[in-house]
Amino acid sequence: MSQLQEKIKALAKAQSADIIAHRRHLHSNPELSFEEFKTAKYVAAELTAIGLSPQEGIAGTGVVALIEGRNPESRVVGLRADMDALPILEANDVPYKSTVPGVMHACGHDVHTSSLLGTARILNQLKEEFEGTIKLVFQPAEEKAPGGASLMIREGVLENPRPTSMVGQHVAPNIPVGKIGFREGMYMASTDELYLTVKGKGGHAAAPHQLVDPVLMASHIIVALQQIISRNRNPANPAVLSFGRFIADGVTNVIPNEVTIQGTWRCMDEEWREDGLKRMKKMAENIAEAMGGSCEFEILKGYPFLKNHPELTRRVRTAATGYVGAENVIDLDLWMAGEDFAFYSQVVDSCFYRLGTRNEARGIISGVHTPTFDIDEDALEISTGLMSWLAISELNV
Ligand SMILES: [Zn+2]
Ligand SMILES: [Zn+2]
Repeated sequence: MSQLQEKIKALAKAQSADIIAHRRHLHSNPELSFEEFKTAKYVAAELTAIGLSPQEGIAGTGVVALIEGRNPESRVVGLRADMDALPILEANDVPYKSTVPGVMHACGHDVHTSSLLGTARILNQLKEEFEGTIKLVFQPAEEKAPGGASLMIREGVLENPRPTSMVGQHVAPNIPVGKIGFREGMYMASTDELYLTVKGKGGHAAAPHQLVDPVLMASHIIVALQQIISRNRNPANPAVLSFGRFIADGVTNVIPNEVTIQGTWRCMDEEWREDGLKRMKKMAENIAEAMGGSCEFEILKGYPFLKNHPELTRRVRTAATGYVGAENVIDLDLWMAGEDFAFYSQVVDSCFYRLGTRNEARGIISGVHTPTFDIDEDALEISTGLMSWLAISELNV
């Protein structure tokens, strides 16, 4: 083990109680997407306290700070944490339970934020020992379109200085604490929302010949759109189309005028994403038209797919192996959920990895976005030190 790595481990250990306190403070005081006002103040105050000069108010509540080592222009590594919570009523009975009814850090963004504060402290103490610059990015609204990442990029977070690479982490309640997960290449899906209104002519169900039945049209559309996945998609290319809402508000003997359908479209290829959307729209509109009605097909564009830059991910994984041991580094499966870190990954070499937070023996097993989600806080000492080590390793490439 290198001397520097030992130093990092000692620093992470020494401050672990502080980082747990940060995490608990944030967990007790969650704020929804784009409303992270107190959280941003808290982050900026902590960064100022350790001697940095944070820039606030990027994309509303985003905070950015730089840690400059020797020869600061040589390389720039961006480290990102998201800060927003979810509209969920916490069901955990813990001392740090949410004090805001109906709002909860149920996706671990309190962990990402407190962890990056810890990493900032470690890296700032070691800045004489590395070359280059660390760019700390605390972003709003990972959970809500258009995503804090896209807005921060639009406001220039990837310029002055431009990161050579971006690194982010996410808690993983399915991975035991102590383990870290990586995947090269495509990892998480693009997410687009689909809103269809199928219009016909309603009336008495006993006289369908006088009507244009939107229920039947909408049913045909659902079946036909699924066939785009099976017939037009390259089978090697993962994609999901799911409809969770189908409202035909008639009764047994009344056919309604219209049917609304809502769904989600997810894939891992930006070209196919657009192509699939075009095909779906055309097919839905044409089916409705052929059956005598019409279909309004609206698309709410979400996040792109998340790709982990292969060489960068390999380097980061090797560094992580050196820090936590080969037995604690695992491969991740594809995951069809969305994540706005994907915006960075589309324009800068990026690596997004998973931090194990599960502890079955202690009953910490609930998934993210559930009212009983929690983490094993031992993960914090690992994550603060690990991210510091990964960042320095990446600067020293
Ligand atoms: Zn989430
Ligand atoms: Zn999340």
